[in-house]
Amino acid sequence: MKKQYAVIGMGRFGSSVASTLYREGNEVLAIDKNEDQINDHKELVSYAVIGDATEEETMKEVGIRNFDTVIVAIGDDIQASILAVLLLKELGVRHVVAKALTKNHAQVLYKIGADKVIFPEKDMGERVAHNLMAAPNVLNFIELSDKYSIEEIQIPRSMEGKNLRELSLRSRYNVMVVAIKEKESNKINIAPDPDENLDMDDILLVIGENRDLEKFTNLT
Ligand code: ADP
Repeated sequence: MKKQYAVIGMGRFGSSVASTLYREGNEVLAIDKNEDQINDHKELVSYAVIGDATEEETMKEVGIRNFDTVIVAIGDDIQASILAVLLLKELGVRHVVAKALTKNHAQVLYKIGADKVIFPEKDMGERVAHNLMAAPNVLNFIELSDKYSIEEIQIPRSMEGKNLRELSLRSRYNVMVVAIKEKESNKINIAPDPDENLDMDDILLVIGENRDLEKFTNLT
């Protein structure tokens, strides 16, 4: 079933969130108090309405509590962002995601009930830094905690034609292959056969401690 999202604030961040959700097939309502922003976004979302997210009547009129997730992407106006989150929670919106500018702002947002707070610039900066540091065969990664990650790794040449059983990555490198992805089709096999030979089209999804992953990904 299609999910319903409302995105408040069509600045660069909100606009990117809203149009991506819409492109992926979701129903998306865009709200901004600025008419120009709404005109610019009409074609990029399901509905676009002019409105102030700190006004209770406006939020009730658009039926805000019926949305699965509401994203508060108000930029510099910290006061408006706080008031909007407070109001959404009071109106019974189940899942509120808000953008924060500073640590204090984030703390307040959590205190008043935001379910998730994001720092787009800080988060993106960390991703870019990780990608810059990563070995060239690391295609993607998910940080699970400070210590552990899952990485997508292009298999090193030295492993071509070998199988997982003989490679025994768990005992040699302390990392575990949780799935194998085919490069062309993106097909994911979550129970890889330990006796099947790997080929250069295989991408390994490997979980482990960051320092072990680093050792493993630097193999050639
Ligand atoms: P970014 O840094 O992501 O580009 P901006 O600060 O440029 O963010 O954009 C924030 C958007 O949020 C603006 O388009 C602004 O009109 C909108 N906005 C600010 N306050 C409200 C509010 N109370 N209700 C609805 N939209 C708002």
